[in-house]
Amino acid sequence: MAVIGIDFGSTNTCAAVFYEGRVRMIEMSAGGATSMPSVVCVVGENVVVGQEAVDQGRQYPDYDFRNFKRNLGVHLNRDEDMAFQVCEGPGGMLAYRGPAGFTYSPIELASFILGRVIDTANEFLRDEDTVTGAVLGVPATFEPHQIEALKEAARLAGLTNVTTIEEPVAAALATGAEKRKKTWRPFIVDFGGGTLDTSILSIGDGRASVFAKNGIGDLGGVDFDKRIADYVVNLWMTEHGKDLRQRDAAMSRIMVEAEQVKKRLSDREKTTFRLDTIDRTTDGVSLHMIYEIDRKIFNELTRDLLERMLDACKATLADAKMKDPNFSLRDIHDVLLVGGMTRVPIIREQVAAFFGKAARKDENPEQIVAQGCAIKAAIIEGRLPDFDVSDITSYDIAIETRDNIPAIIIPRGTSFPLTKQVQIRNADETQTELSVRLLYATRSRAQDCVVLQAEDIPIDPGPAETVKAKLVVTINEDGEPTFSRAA
Ligand code: AMP
Repeated sequence: MAVIGIDFGSTNTCAAVFYEGRVRMIEMSAGGATSMPSVVCVVGENVVVGQEAVDQGRQYPDYDFRNFKRNLGVHLNRDEDMAFQVCEGPGGMLAYRGPAGFTYSPIELASFILGRVIDTANEFLRDEDTVTGAVLGVPATFEPHQIEALKEAARLAGLTNVTTIEEPVAAALATGAEKRKKTWRPFIVDFGGGTLDTSILSIGDGRASVFAKNGIGDLGGVDFDKRIADYVVNLWMTEHGKDLRQRDAAMSRIMVEAEQVKKRLSDREKTTFRLDTIDRTTDGVSLHMIYEIDRKIFNELTRDLLERMLDACKATLADAKMKDPNFSLRDIHDVLLVGGMTRVPIIREQVAAFFGKAARKDENPEQIVAQGCAIKAAIIEGRLPDFDVSDITSYDIAIETRDNIPAIIIPRGTSFPLTKQVQIRNADETQTELSVRLLYATRSRAQDCVVLQAEDIPIDPGPAETVKAKLVVTINEDGEPTFSRAA
């Protein structure tokens, strides 16, 4: 009956378990790798995942699905999303086009990845335990419907006990948050393969919550890889007069080597971008692609991406200032770096310069979220008492007003379970019912928010603002808000 921690990332997934008094990463392959690519490839009737999917994907690029985390629970937007592989699934949801007319929802694709994680964890635990539950990390910028979709994927993968934790909170837990006596406010930069999340946490009194957050959903390691790829493709164009962008097979090899170059530049000042036989002359002679790239070139190529990263940090501070006008950079006690991209030296340097202090150095920034999820799992199982991270609301809860504005009745960060009385009134004398819609106030217009519950309460008409109805809004132990009419 083990509950494990899972960091299902846009590009990589890893998992950890609290076992014999400490957190252990679960090995994802016989070679001892602690992460696997979040990639699914459908080959005929077979679904393969992880590294095998990456390998098969070279042969079946149409059915090689990546980066679907951001599309969990998302409706298809015909103007924006009609990209390669994407189609309309049941109920207007975004789905992916598979072979033989089949479609796959992002939830199904995620469940294939999670299913593999569960199998691997069961092998890791051998006969000592079986995985029945998981704590899943979710980006602080995820909306309720995306969280629900991820939980559904976990249930589809066979888990019964599924909880989520915001990724920065998990990161803080993995770095010893539960041991802190005084209030601790770390700034967390989580830079992965597909997304950047920046947040400030508030930790103390046995509680951890996200105090301020920001992020860029479409800025990640892959954008840095693309800059290197563009650079070498342009050099090739100048040298040979041929545009390799027209050739998918060459481009996919270039992207793989670009990522390797980026990683090598984390350990050394310069490296060689090298791909043999990327093209041939008209006489059939092999042409190799060989270019020297150093950190200076890389930093120059990615300058605007680095600026966007700092803009997200600034926006997070602005969010903190809105909550507490006295908040300043000095109130940040530590800077934590999470995600593979924080291994890039220029990223570490720029973050340190921005905050005026060096970030804490963790050996494996890719593993921190999974480790924190495993600690949360241990808390849930009662193996780490005295610390609670699950009892505050992540979203403002509101009631829709007649002019389409979500009026906040329970602000984000409120402890639950709780009940609260709210009074609503009629807007004009013709009304025979009061339409009540309870929302997560994730947008400025009520019509764009997530509706939690909607009901029409019959009333006897009367002059505007005189007919009242009392409601009781409840958030239960699981954090689910509902309302009923007060007696
Ligand atoms: P994550 O989602 O945390 O696994 O991060 C994946 C991203 O980190 C990918 O874009 C990787 O290319 C990048 N990454 C991993 N290791 C390194 C490294 N040593 N240097 C630079 N980038 C890295």
